[in-house]
Amino acid sequence: MFRSLASRLTLLYTLLFAVLSLLVFGVMNYNLRINLRDRIDQEFLGDGREFVEIFQQGGLKSLAEEIRLETEGEGVDQIFIRIYSPDLQIIKTSDMHTWNDLPKDPPELENLTHEQFDTVTLAAHSGQARIFYQPLGNGYILQTGTLLSFDEKLLANFQRVFIFAFSFMLLSAVLIGFYISKRSLTGIQRVKETADQISRGNLTQAISFHNHTEEVNTLITSINRMQSRIHTLIKELQDVTNNIAHDLRSPVTRMRGLAETTLSGVQSLEEYQNMSGAVIEECDSLVGMINTMLEIAENDAGVTPLNKKPVNISQIIRDVAELYSPVAEDKNINVSLKVVDEPLIISGDRSLLQRALANLLDNALKFTQEGGRVALNLKVENQYAQITIADTGMGISAKDLPHVWERFYRADRSRSTSGTGLGLSLVRSIIQAHGGKIDMVSTEGAGTQVTICINTA
Ligand code: ATP
Ligand code: MG
Repeated sequence: MFRSLASRLTLLYTLLFAVLSLLVFGVMNYNLRINLRDRIDQEFLGDGREFVEIFQQGGLKSLAEEIRLETEGEGVDQIFIRIYSPDLQIIKTSDMHTWNDLPKDPPELENLTHEQFDTVTLAAHSGQARIFYQPLGNGYILQTGTLLSFDEKLLANFQRVFIFAFSFMLLSAVLIGFYISKRSLTGIQRVKETADQISRGNLTQAISFHNHTEEVNTLITSINRMQSRIHTLIKELQDVTNNIAHDLRSPVTRMRGLAETTLSGVQSLEEYQNMSGAVIEECDSLVGMINTMLEIAENDAGVTPLNKKPVNISQIIRDVAELYSPVAEDKNINVSLKVVDEPLIISGDRSLLQRALANLLDNALKFTQEGGRVALNLKVENQYAQITIADTGMGISAKDLPHVWERFYRADRSRSTSGTGLGLSLVRSIIQAHGGKIDMVSTEGAGTQVTICINTA
């Protein structure tokens, strides 16, 4: 019955409310009872002092008259007064005909020197009476008693009002508690609905924020982040599938064409050898493309963590420049290197960073005509290592520039050069996996500049 969070919270509110209310009632009831009793006792003490005075001044006779007046004034059914002689015999008494249910046993009054109070239960009245004993002097004792029915009625009334108010407030607490719990949990219901939609395959709808509590909003933020991540991963998978369908098909088709041509008619051994060579080359390039695509997908998905270690990025740049110096020499391209002298340490995967920089330098040399210039720079700015690779090559048109990061994208003008169009996608995936940023500016016919920023902290 109390499986849902709303009903459990309601039960908790209600229990808390009931316990607190009963506690408050208990304290108030106790205080009221004590105060009422105290008021009667104070009255007894005042009257007692008066009786002592009268007894001492006028003796028993005057006291008997006072007793008559006092009890008749208050009502003989409400109050009684009796006087005990030193040998504890009742020698004077008010009209006692309504007080037959007083306990018969004489109280222990020998040697009574101080006022004494007692509370007795009266069977016939089905209530209680407060009794007071006052030593009058010379061994005489005055006993007076009054019914507590007025106080009992007052307390009973108080209890009745409390029970009525308590029931009403308890019902309100249940309703209000249930309303508040339901309201504060509506956000969770929305989260659940969206999670259901995600499991049904709808990954585009994010959960909106609607005046929910901070906890629910944090939950919504996490779920939205998770949903967008799943969305990216699925899109990634779709892109790879599309790439396989479009771009890996052509090398396979080429290989099939080669095999078909060789099979049509009897060929010489040399032609067979040429065909095998060409097929092996296509296979190698195909395997290379598949590996690069897997690497890009892996980096983008962030599934396998990078093998990060402190690496000296200035040394990596020098190594890459060294590696490509024969190519630059072949094309008579001047490669200038402006790198900070001291080691610049960043946390990263050495071989991946090497591949990224090699790809960029490869592009710069590939798309720059003979006699051109390439500049490699490394500086530190606000805790960021900033690497720029600038060339004076053919540049990229404004139309192509936004697409160069896409897998297999190659500008029309560069189709005459070798390549698959995967290089920049790999570079970007590597830099992003390192938490860095990469940008490219290019002017057609003038040159291209790529800038990488990686945190050194
Ligand atoms: P791969 O890198 O796989 O060998 P690629 O170099 O053609 O092939 P990317 O490195 O991804 O592929 O580059 C994509 C396209 O961007 C290139 O085909 C070219 O059109 C353009 N591009 C990249 N770098 C430069 C550059 N420095 N100058 C001019 N164009 C460039
Ligand atoms: Mg390239």
